[in-house]
Amino acid sequence: MAQPSRRMTQLGPYLFSAIGAKVRELRAKGVQVISLGIGDPDVPTPDPVVLELVRAATDVHDPDRFRYGSDWPLDAFPNAVAQYYRHRFGVELDPKSEIVPLIGSKEGIAHIALCYLDPGDVALVPEPGYPVYKIGALLALAESYPMPLLADRNWTPDFSAIPSEVLKRAKLLWLNYPNNPTAACVTLDFFAEAVAFARRHGLLICHDAAYVDITYDGYVAPSILQVPGAKEVAIEFGSLSKPFAMTGWRIGWAVGNSEAVRLLATVKDNIDSGIFRPIQRAGAKALQLFCQDPSIIRPVVDTYQRRRDFVVQALRQAGIPVEAPKGTLYVWSPIPDGFANSQEFATFLLERAHVAVTPGGGYGPAGEGYFRISLTYPDAVIGEAMERITAALKRS
Ligand SMILES: *Cc1c(COP(=O)(O)O)cnc(C)c1O
Repeated sequence: MAQPSRRMTQLGPYLFSAIGAKVRELRAKGVQVISLGIGDPDVPTPDPVVLELVRAATDVHDPDRFRYGSDWPLDAFPNAVAQYYRHRFGVELDPKSEIVPLIGSKEGIAHIALCYLDPGDVALVPEPGYPVYKIGALLALAESYPMPLLADRNWTPDFSAIPSEVLKRAKLLWLNYPNNPTAACVTLDFFAEAVAFARRHGLLICHDAAYVDITYDGYVAPSILQVPGAKEVAIEFGSLSKPFAMTGWRIGWAVGNSEAVRLLATVKDNIDSGIFRPIQRAGAKALQLFCQDPSIIRPVVDTYQRRRDFVVQALRQAGIPVEAPKGTLYVWSPIPDGFANSQEFATFLLERAHVAVTPGGGYGPAGEGYFRISLTYPDAVIGEAMERITAALKRS
C-alpha cells in the first residue's frame, strides 16, 4: 500500500479535535453536552435568496442552468460583487480582472498559497487565527510564521517584531478583521500601516473579510481596498456565509490585485469547475438586495447582537471582565482566575457544566489565557449554557 504524502503526515483533523473527542465521549454516556464551539449560523438564509435559487434552478429559459459553472460563465455574480464594493466601500473593481468567485472563501484562502508559496517561502499568519491560513502554506510545502496578536495592541500584530530573516522569505501576509477568534475590529489606519509595510517588503496582503458586515453598535468595518493604492499589494476574501447565513451554499469571492486574482483563477480553473449556476444567481441576488437595502441582513445581525449582550452580561456577572465585541459571531473572553490555562478551563466547563467552549490555547500559545464562545446557537441553548457555566463557577 502506498505511503501518505509528507503533507498528510502534518495535516491533522480540522481544529480542536481533543475537545471534540471529549464531547463525543460524554454524549455517548448520555450526558447532554451543549457545544458553543462552532461558528455556523443557525438562523436561516433570507427568503428572497432561497426563492432566487429555486427560480434559477427551474428556469427553463436558462438552458445552461445545470452545467459547469465555469465553462458557461455568468457575469451576474462578479457584477454583483463589483456593485457591492462600490456601494458598500466606494471601491471600484473590474469584474473581469479583479474579481474571482470562490466555492466559499475557505477554498480560495487555502488555494492562494499554491499561487505564491514554494518550499522555503513563508506565509505570515496571525496567532490566534483561522487555521486555514497556515494549512494553505502547509499544503504548498511552505512555512508559516505566527505573528502574535496582542491584547494591548487591540489584537493586531506588531510588524516590527518579525525577524528580518523571516521577512526576507515571506511572501504572504494574512490579516483578518473583524477578527476570528478575538472579535477585534480595526480602523482604516491599521490597514494603511499594513499596506505600507507590504509595499516596503514585497508582500501580498491577503485580507480575510468574512465578518465585515457582522458588526454591532453602529460600527462599520472597512475594506482594506479603501486604502489608496491597496490594490497594488492586496487581495481581499469575502463570503456570503456569515452575513446571509449561507455557510452550506459555498459561495464567496476574492477581489483586488489583478495578478493575484488571475493566479488564483488559474489554479481554480485547473482543479474545480465553478459554482452551481443557480447558486451564483442567488448569491448575486443577495448582494443586489443588500445594495438596495442593507437591512436585509438585520434579522441575522440583530440576533447575534442580542446573544452577544446576553453572554457578555452573564460572564461579567460571573466575575469575568470581558469586553463586548463590535463584530463577528464570537465572544473572546479571558479565563477566570484560578485556572492554569485555557485547556484546563475548557476541560473544567466540559466536565462540571457540560458546556464545550473553544480554548484559546488551541490556536497556539498567543491565544492562551482566553476562550471563545460562538453565538451561532439558539437563544435558549445559550441561555442554558450560561446558567450552567455560572453555577459551575460558583461551586468551584
Ligand atoms: C467562516 C469563516 C470564513 C469563511 O468561510 P466560507 O464559508 O468558506 O466562505 C473565512 N474566514 C474566517 C475567519 C471565518 O471564520
